[in-house]
Amino acid sequence: MVFAARPTRCLAVDPMHPNAAVIREAGNVLRRGGLVAFPTETVYGLGANALDARAVADIFYAKGRPVDNPLIVHIDRAESLRDYVAEIPPVVPQLAARFWPGPLTLVIRGGEKFAPGVTGGLGTVAVRVPAHPVALAIIRAAGAPVAAPSANASGRPSPTTAAHVLDDLAGRVDLVVDGGPAGLGVESTVLDLTGERPVILRPGGVTRQELEPVLGPVELDKSVLGEAAGGRPRSPGMKYTHYAPRAPLFLFEGGDGSQLAKRILEEAERLAAAGHKVGVLACEETAALYRGKGYHLVVVGRRSDPGTVAASLYESLRRFDRLGVDVILAEGIPCDGVGLAVMNRLRRAAGGNIVAVCTDDSPDPGISIYKP
Ligand code: AMP
Ligand code: MG
Repeated sequence: MVFAARPTRCLAVDPMHPNAAVIREAGNVLRRGGLVAFPTETVYGLGANALDARAVADIFYAKGRPVDNPLIVHIDRAESLRDYVAEIPPVVPQLAARFWPGPLTLVIRGGEKFAPGVTGGLGTVAVRVPAHPVALAIIRAAGAPVAAPSANASGRPSPTTAAHVLDDLAGRVDLVVDGGPAGLGVESTVLDLTGERPVILRPGGVTRQELEPVLGPVELDKSVLGEAAGGRPRSPGMKYTHYAPRAPLFLFEGGDGSQLAKRILEEAERLAAAGHKVGVLACEETAALYRGKGYHLVVVGRRSDPGTVAASLYESLRRFDRLGVDVILAEGIPCDGVGLAVMNRLRRAAGGNIVAVCTDDSPDPGISIYKP
């Protein structure tokens, strides 16, 4: 079956007290097998009825998503998991009591009752209960679990506003429910519970430090900071370039704010002299160092408070597209708390373009914005 272009409607709701008629309409679209984008407390999701194989297949067409990249199923309460999964690990109710509704996705065995695209044939399924009144109301109105990846075109930065969704997916989804900006700004933490030890496949809103008191030691999958050397990533989504703005992004990391700024300014000057339109992604603490030099500066939050960086990260990356820069030089932040999720997304957006800033005086070779 060919994916048909479709008119996209956009309906606004109050995020805390969503209009009942809009929610009913979103539920009806999902019941009929349509696609509905809606806000969650992480980013906007692109939802389909997780039991409807054709609707789930349409998610992949609409996003241009590789078919081997499975989807997260959103349910409205932990108890409904029993309707779909035969064996629930004993730790799930504990985690659910502490973190649901919230930005924690659990990967467990089973999931055969869901449409095949949901599990990607892995024999495991990823599930969570979102903490957003609009998302919860839509799941209830659909009367079914809702499969929902982020509502961006595959490879692009995730959407944190309805406008981002429309930029990527207008004409490809039936309805966008606009509930204002999504909260956290980065996606959920994906935690694999299928092995001997719990493993974070994707860092997100719930941190390792928050999980360990409940679970004991939690491992970080090697792919989290881009260290996976060959082999098959355990979270299929982690092998694709992702979160990327249109211009190449170079991520500078390793030093403190002023060391990063010093190194970025050297490169910016060199690139600008060569005629490139240079974008700089900087934190509030160092922003003043870049002003008045003709660079396109986007300030992304406070280095000392990674939550503020997470909240504006994707909008900031998309802003560079609108500015039409040729290259982006980005400051890294410390990997503490939700900073790990931010650095995971920035490293993925950078591809291999990571510049380790030397904190001693050894010369470093400089960057080339065109790869050989
Ligand atoms: P998103 O597209 O933002 O919803 O991302 C969903 C993430 O969860 C991707 O990285 C997927 O690869 C991952 N994921 C979904 N289902 C599974 C699963 N059954 N096993 C491992 N990872 C999964
Ligand atoms: Mg995504």
